[in-house]
Amino acid sequence: MAVCARLCGVGPSRGCRRRQQRRGPAETAAADSEPDTDPEEERIEAGAAALSGAGGGRSAGPSSPPRCSLLELPPELLVEIFASLPGTDLPSLAQVCTKFRRILHTDTIWRRRCREEYGVCENLRKLEITGVSCRDVYAKRINPRVKSGRFMRILPDYEHMEYRDVYTCLLHRYRHILGLWQPDIGPYGGLLNVVVDGLFIIGWMYLPPHDPHVDDPMRFKPLFRIHLMERKSATVECMYGHRGPHNGHVQIVKKDEFSTKCNQTDHHRMSGGRQEEFRTWLREEWGRTLEDIFHEHMQELILMKFIYTSQYDNCLTYRRIYLPPSRPDDLIRPGLFKGTYGSHGLEIVMLSFHGKHARGTKITGDPNIPAGQQTVEIDLRHRIQLPDGESLRDFNELSRVVLEVREQVRQEQEQEGGPEDVEGLGQQSPQRCEEPPAEPAQAPGDRGAAAAAEPLAQSGQGQPFVLPVGVSSRNEDYPRTCRMCFYGTGLIAGHGFTSPERTPGVFVLFDEDRFGFIWLELKSFSLYSRVQAAFRNADAPSPQAFEEMLKNIQSLTS
Ligand SMILES: [Zn+2]
Repeated sequence: MAVCARLCGVGPSRGCRRRQQRRGPAETAAADSEPDTDPEEERIEAGAAALSGAGGGRSAGPSSPPRCSLLELPPELLVEIFASLPGTDLPSLAQVCTKFRRILHTDTIWRRRCREEYGVCENLRKLEITGVSCRDVYAKRINPRVKSGRFMRILPDYEHMEYRDVYTCLLHRYRHILGLWQPDIGPYGGLLNVVVDGLFIIGWMYLPPHDPHVDDPMRFKPLFRIHLMERKSATVECMYGHRGPHNGHVQIVKKDEFSTKCNQTDHHRMSGGRQEEFRTWLREEWGRTLEDIFHEHMQELILMKFIYTSQYDNCLTYRRIYLPPSRPDDLIRPGLFKGTYGSHGLEIVMLSFHGKHARGTKITGDPNIPAGQQTVEIDLRHRIQLPDGESLRDFNELSRVVLEVREQVRQEQEQEGGPEDVEGLGQQSPQRCEEPPAEPAQAPGDRGAAAAAEPLAQSGQGQPFVLPVGVSSRNEDYPRTCRMCFYGTGLIAGHGFTSPERTPGVFVLFDEDRFGFIWLELKSFSLYSRVQAAFRNADAPSPQAFEEMLKNIQSLTS
């Protein structure tokens, strides 16, 4: 209707005639395929109807049916109108008539669609003729194996390229891979962010900072990129390894799943062989040298991860993940956090709220607790009052308080008709390692967090916090005041996710961006710090879709 209204306002002499009966998509499609010799008026009318969406017509005069021909509008106005429509509507609009088709060749229309839908701000023409930015773009495209004399030939052909090509052959074609993804890479998982970056689509793997600096920013490295090397032909390049971009492939398997493949894995190899590859990986991934790692158990874990992950050679399958939906009464803003996991280093955990519970789901994982599992679960109905003064340092005192709450929770679950989840809190499994995620418990109602937060507001912000004697922490640089604490459970398991069980612990909320978890049985402490990054195309279409996603990534490693 908006468009129609605008059209009607163009000239007082023109009315607007609208069809009472609108065509369905099938009919429109049929009309689209008709030859151009058909009465153009009819088609334009169809186009106008398509433009104005559903709804009845609007009458400009009392007696004669009003008329309005889009065809009579000046082309610049049509350009303006078309440029404001979603790019996906434009191809069918081009089939309405030859005039529309001609106008849709105007590249400013497509430039605007590229900018508004995908945030592309680059100027194709300027890329071709100006200095500095142009050099940057060229530099990105230099194939190191090709001598400079030939390199002009492998540059993208911007001179003959149009925004329409960029839109249709790159952005629109690969739109389904934009957003956040988790690779299927055994227990390790990961976080891939696929973004539009200039005239590229780039897949960035996000890595936690080096252990144990949870407050440091995330690191990232490109795994693949896609761009137009020539009109209408997108090129996929593998960016893995240290020898520059090389031939790769991206396949969209099905909705919310795609895979990458490297066609030149020899580009991943180093001249120094596996030894050099491992040392390089160790330096990049862990910020360590081989000599740095004294701890034998840690050596094993690190070596195992290298052997396991490097065998994939960037041939991976990815599944979409969403950021958790946020509600006003959440304890803090949900999102992604970096957390300390003992010898496993830093891992990425997603904090989400589910009524009476909050959950930390592993986005990256390890051989004990794989990615997708719920490392911690927080019971927002049960706050924990930390012991006062000197008793704060007394582990036994803290333990007593927590186990009391656990008993209370157990009794409540019995009264409610049994535990929502099986909480195997009893038996010790052999040779367990620090590692935790928790299990979900569906909880109706979502007032839990807000209700729990009220006493806090009354008691004022901040209470002293210090870890009890005997509780180990990777990072001694944890906050010394906290807002409040809750009872929670953390998942621990043996190697290979054997004998997983949920063990009692304390969730410590420090501030909007940091929390901690005390693993009672392990006598260890994890510190979590928010991932401060803005992600596009990562919101769940609905709360149900988010829950579904959580369930899916968990089931894959269970
Ligand atoms: Zn490769």
